[in-house]
Amino acid sequence: MSMATAAPPCEWGYLACFPSDRLSDPATVEPPSGSSVPPPPPPPPAPAPARLPQRKGPLDLRANPKVQLAQAKRFATGVLDHYNKNKKIKFELLDAKPVISIPEPRCCYTHINFTARSSKEDSEEQLFFAEIYHCRKKRSPSGFIVTCCEPLGPDFKVGQKFCKLDGSSAVRKNTDFTHCFACTERMLHPRGENYVAGHCNIPRVYDYVR
Ligand SMILES: [Zn+2]
Repeated sequence: MSMATAAPPCEWGYLACFPSDRLSDPATVEPPSGSSVPPPPPPPPAPAPARLPQRKGPLDLRANPKVQLAQAKRFATGVLDHYNKNKKIKFELLDAKPVISIPEPRCCYTHINFTARSSKEDSEEQLFFAEIYHCRKKRSPSGFIVTCCEPLGPDFKVGQKFCKLDGSSAVRKNTDFTHCFACTERMLHPRGENYVAGHCNIPRVYDYVR
C-alpha cells in the first residue's frame, strides 16, 4: 500500500473527517449522531435593500429646477431694485421664469422674464424682460449689472428670432441688432436694440446655450 494515498488520521476532532467541500459551509455540517453539540443557528436574513433617494447620474448635467428658480428670483429681485430706484411707482416681484445665460466673447449675459405688480392700487400683473451682465463682485456686490429692464407690452414677441422679419432689422456682419437668437421661444423680448446679447445670427451659433 502506498503511503501517499492514505487518508490523514482524524487527530483534530470530527470536522477533520468530513470531505473538504462540506467544511466550507457550516450549515451543511451535521454533528455525529448522539453528539451534544447544538446545530449552528441559521444565518440572519439579508436586510432589505434601503430605498435610496433618486440621484442624478454622473452624466446628467441638467440643472436642478429648484436651484434654477431660486437663481432666477435672485436675479429678478436685483433687477427690480435697480428699476425701482428712479421710479415713483415701485414694483414688487411676483414670479420669475428660468433664465437663459448667453456667453458672448469674454463676457456673459443673462436674459430674464419675470412678473411684478406695482404699488398702485388695483394694479395688474406686469411682465418684464431684463438683461444682466455678469461681472466681478468688486465692480458690483451682486455680481451683475443691469443692462436692460423694461415692462413688456402687447408686442412682447417682437425681439424673438422666431417672429417674421419685417425688413427693418439693422444687420451688420452676422449681427442682427433687432432680435435675440440665443433664447428659446419661451423667453419674451422687446425689440433687440434695447439689450446687448444674443444678436449673432450665424445659424446654430447659440445651440450650446440651451
Ligand atoms: Zn434672449
